[in-house]
Amino acid sequence: MQDDHSTADRQSTASQAYAGVDIPMTPKRLEVYTTLLRAGQALSAYELIDRVNLNFSRQLTPISIYRMLEFLEQKHLVRKLKSAGKYVAINPTTQATDQQVLQFLICRECGDVKELGIDQRILVELKACIDSSGFQLKNWELELDCVCTNCSTHCGADTRK
Ligand SMILES: [Zn+2]
Repeated sequence: MQDDHSTADRQSTASQAYAGVDIPMTPKRLEVYTTLLRAGQALSAYELIDRVNLNFSRQLTPISIYRMLEFLEQKHLVRKLKSAGKYVAINPTTQATDQQVLQFLICRECGDVKELGIDQRILVELKACIDSSGFQLKNWELELDCVCTNCSTHCGADTRK
């Protein structure tokens, strides 16, 4: 997918997203992060390579994109969705508060992603239930199966399952 925005616009969007975030960024990392942030949906590493190469006239390889995604994950700017094998960008300006845990809602129909801060108390309660079952929680990241408002109204998606 190509858009009409110039490289300067894209860099500016990325810079705005970074306001107040002290993370060293090479131009390539910034391009990868910006592309993912602007996509507004989860992308696989290969989809991301195609977009970055197209938009920034790069020749990124899978090994380099995985390294950059790993760096961005460590800096909490990107999260890998294990169930989908795709990546989403975390906007540092919409981080969850201390009382919230950031979760992603991903539309199963169109791939649209929405960040949502969930009250930590809900997760604490969930953990207590898990503990009482004898199991141990190893990962707090929820991946909830969703349909976005647009798809549910336009496609008549069945949300009962
Ligand atoms: Zn949707």
